[in-house]
Amino acid sequence: MEVRKELLAPCGLYCGVCSIQIADRDDNEKLKAKLAAAYGVAVGNIRCKGCCSEEKFGYCETCPIRECATGKGFEGCHQCDDWPCDFVREFPVSVGREVMLRSIPAWRELGTERWVEAETERYRCPSCREPQLRGARRCKNCGQELALG
Ligand SMILES: [Zn+2]
Repeated sequence: MEVRKELLAPCGLYCGVCSIQIADRDDNEKLKAKLAAAYGVAVGNIRCKGCCSEEKFGYCETCPIRECATGKGFEGCHQCDDWPCDFVREFPVSVGREVMLRSIPAWRELGTERWVEAETERYRCPSCREPQLRGARRCKNCGQELALG
């Protein structure tokens, strides 16, 4: 599986399964409208090419975790002995924090390429195998309820 560096969010929230990145990639207007309402921003602000691209979503633009990790010369927090630091423990979105706490140990264990594969696999519908968005509650393809975390 090809590893796209711009999708490797150092915090462990892999951009390949992020709803904002996917809404932008697919030009999915319905999803963009839903996300804009959820984040309290204009639909035009729902755009992102990945955490390590030149075009990032609002919060991620100034995220201290990426600043910290890249400043230390790391690809991700999995390389850092101080993890989980206060940036992670005090991350303002609890769901995101929980995913980081699951994901970074997996990245450490698997290495980048296998971790990307594992994250991609994790967010498939267990019933029909259709790729899902992180945070999806129900499969759009088959209606299966999801608890992907
Ligand atoms: Zn399904």
